[in-house]
Amino acid sequence: MDFLRPSSLTEALAVKAERPDAVPIAGGTDVMVELNFDHRRPGALLDLNRVTELAEWTETDGEIRLGASVPYVRVIAELGEVLPALAMASRTVGSPQIRNRGTVGGNLGAASPAGDTHPVLLVLGAEIEAASVRGTRRIPAEEFYLGVKRHALEPDELITAVYLPAEAGPQQFAKVGTRNAMVIAVCSFAVALHLGTREVRAAVGSAAPTPRRATAAEEFLSAELPWSTKASITDSVKRRFGELVSEASSPIDDVRGSADYRKHALSVLARRTLTWAWNDFQKGERECA
Ligand SMILES: Cc1cc2nc3c(=O)[nH]c(=O)nc-3n(C[C@H](O)[C@H](O)[C@H](O)COP(=O)(O)OP(=O)(O)OC[C@H]3O[C@@H](n4cnc5c(N)ncnc54)[C@H](O)[C@@H]3O)c2cc1C
Repeated sequence: MDFLRPSSLTEALAVKAERPDAVPIAGGTDVMVELNFDHRRPGALLDLNRVTELAEWTETDGEIRLGASVPYVRVIAELGEVLPALAMASRTVGSPQIRNRGTVGGNLGAASPAGDTHPVLLVLGAEIEAASVRGTRRIPAEEFYLGVKRHALEPDELITAVYLPAEAGPQQFAKVGTRNAMVIAVCSFAVALHLGTREVRAAVGSAAPTPRRATAAEEFLSAELPWSTKASITDSVKRRFGELVSEASSPIDDVRGSADYRKHALSVLARRTLTWAWNDFQKGERECA
């Protein structure tokens, strides 16, 4: 197996054009597991750890450009204020060791339906920047996930960054696992209240072949929320929102949980996170968007 170590983005893209079979490796927390278990034996690994351009984030005009190789530990420490839901999801990933190495770019590259960042990227309207020697394009998160562990990248492309709105309004993420830490999600859920447009976005993870938005739930809640008065949300609205989120999923029975349990847990997560996000709104937190 060839081990290719570019030291700049230009070089990395040139190598990927020449060797589209080369498997990128960032934190390695997914790739090394696959190699160790002999799930795949690529002809080449493309080590991105020397490509410093991928390991930076910037903010311009209210938009965060998060480099693909920024590890979770930095998302938590540096971006918790502007991207709270992404920081919440990052805190639930693996263990401190995994969060030191693991990256959002790697979560996207793996495209597991259970990846913790995906529901958050969907509700924030994130765009994934893909680059190759042919140029750069931005892929809306909704168009990125194509199937179980399948995504929209071309063989010669690398994920270079993720674009996210800073200060997007109240937002929450929650996950159910078989224990509190070091656990792949049985199911997960994110919700964001976009105050400027009075729109709700909601997305489920680990409950369908791809992470997906719960659009009927979004439409229902956007119309029902008492945006102007900031009054408390009635139990019936919360319950209906939970039901619609649950209906948006199409989970399977597996070792981590049954489909029925996942559907039930999603409705609970939806009600719970909605309550937290609305409480933040009532308290006047995160109103700037
Ligand atoms: C013990 C353990 C616990 C875990 N717990 C969780 C968890 O709780 N939640 C969760 O979501 N995940 C979890 N994971 C999975 C993993 O940590 C995450 O998916 C992480 O985000 C992967 O990031 P990475 O940088 O390590 O990716 P890598 O392993 O380096 O790469 C992952 C995939 O992305 C591709 N890739 C990486 N960078 C790029 C790029 N720039 N462009 C194109 N493709 C790229 C790789 O080729 C590979 O296919 C866990 C893994 C382990 C081993």
